[in-house]
Amino acid sequence: LDATGDQFTPEDQDIERALRPLSFDDFAGQDQILENLKIFVQAANQRGEALDHTLFHGPPGLGKTTLAHILAAELGVGIKVTSGPVLDKPGDLAGLLTNLDERDVLFIDEIHRLSPIVEEYLYSAMEDYKIDIMIETGPNARTVQINLAPFTLIGATTRSGLLTAPMRARFGISSRLQYYTTELLSTIVTRSSEILNVDIESNAAIEIAGRSRGTPRIANALLRRVRDFAQIKGNGTIDLDISQFSLKALNVDAHGLDEMDNKILTTIIDKFKGGPVGITTLSTAVSESAETIEEVYEPFLIQQGFIIRTPRGREVTELAYKHLDRVPSARTG
Ligand code: ADP
Repeated sequence: LDATGDQFTPEDQDIERALRPLSFDDFAGQDQILENLKIFVQAANQRGEALDHTLFHGPPGLGKTTLAHILAAELGVGIKVTSGPVLDKPGDLAGLLTNLDERDVLFIDEIHRLSPIVEEYLYSAMEDYKIDIMIETGPNARTVQINLAPFTLIGATTRSGLLTAPMRARFGISSRLQYYTTELLSTIVTRSSEILNVDIESNAAIEIAGRSRGTPRIANALLRRVRDFAQIKGNGTIDLDISQFSLKALNVDAHGLDEMDNKILTTIIDKFKGGPVGITTLSTAVSESAETIEEVYEPFLIQQGFIIRTPRGREVTELAYKHLDRVPSARTG
């Protein structure tokens, strides 16, 4: 269980799907984004047109995929789901595009990882709803242009900075998802417990929420693990005691920082005197890719006030020393 969401089992993924909100009304938080989307959807529905192409960016587990599914549901259309790394050839994309019905949604996760050829191919599909397809091979090879049904491309990315400018320009709607407050996460945890059919006390929901790194996916994952402890070690109900016991057993600290978060902080303190340290150096020191540090770990550590970014690199703050129970070493002398 870590912030990248990489260590989820297939069973976890099934439960995750079951816990996924299906309509605007079930989706907690991201108020500003939702308010706008509701208007755009209503307008598109009234005109009977496809919704403008939409880009969601932000750290993993904040609801980008969920929102894509909700948009399709609220538009009353079908959705096809794929991801950047899976689409290696223009032919794969052509197959998906030509199978879309009018106003359908095509969701491309990790859209910053599309190959340049596929990306280029997507441009004319997005702009004019047309693609060129190569038919036959050898001397008879020729391209024919195919008209597509007007559709909505929804892209999700953890790194909007890695999208090319022409790609970004083709999205009429672009929203950055924010980390969730403890209060919002506790409503999500409470809703999920109802779906999982387990009783939870409200102070326990707040405890789990506060240790979830501002991320609904992590909140739901912790809830499922705590539910196991409640079932085996307790009486089935999730109360504060069993939550604290389980979270301790799961090595989740009071702020919900995970092992890598803490490793980043301790490394900056112990090896770099609190910083500043460049991202490449830090990446080598903690054995994690610079990309993952920048897109997954750092945004939360910055948001929580553990790290600041300076022109010379990352520095830890007083709060980080306090959190790790360390004393800042004198910087001078
Ligand atoms: P992303 O695509 O940004 O990585 P997902 O959309 O897959 O994140 O969300 C991960 C899980 O978190 C979903 O299965 C869903 O259960 C839950 N989730 C995300 N956002 C919300 C929300 N606003 N309200 C309730 N649950 C949410």
